[in-house]
Amino acid sequence: MKPVIALVGRPNVGKSTLFNRLTKSRDAIVADFAGLTRDRHYGNGRQGKREFIVIDTGGFEPDASAGIYREMAKQTQQAVAEADVVVFVVDARAGLSAQDHDIANYLRRLGKPTVLVANKAEGMLEGVQLAEFYELALGEVQAVSAAHGQGVRSLVDRALDLV
Ligand code: GDP
Ligand code: MG
Repeated sequence: MKPVIALVGRPNVGKSTLFNRLTKSRDAIVADFAGLTRDRHYGNGRQGKREFIVIDTGGFEPDASAGIYREMAKQTQQAVAEADVVVFVVDARAGLSAQDHDIANYLRRLGKPTVLVANKAEGMLEGVQLAEFYELALGEVQAVSAAHGQGVRSLVDRALDLV
């Protein structure tokens, strides 16, 4: 069985861009409109000899202010349940949001292996600008640029090492 990696996070953080990068596909719709990708999306990834399955998700409903369980799209919940490891994507440029905190709380409670990824980190001073994400208490922040490919190999290694 190939390990399964689920990409979760609020809309527009770059999950589908990362999915495309990991699966070398154009399958997932990348959009400038928050929350466009509504369906779970499966793809095959490979890094060296390591093969894995990636699930892209539509993320959390952008306008829900209710509790995390209602807010979380059913499909995302299912993807997390199916996953061996969760890659939780936040936006290094936008900074932390209340939704990020909600998702982090949910994932911490779930106790599933999780890698916290700060995307859109190209050209950033990681030590300084990513410090706030440690507030989420999900361990080391992995800086990546899904659009440019930076940090993605090391993200995959870290994620698969948790399986
Ligand atoms: P999703 O809603 O989380 O699936 O996010 P998308 O993958 O659709 O991306 C949302 C927006 O962020 C798009 O305009 C992407 O081009 C942009 N984006 C994604 N990854 C990066 C990145 O690494 N750097 C920058 N600067 N923009 C990115
Ligand atoms: Mg998407």
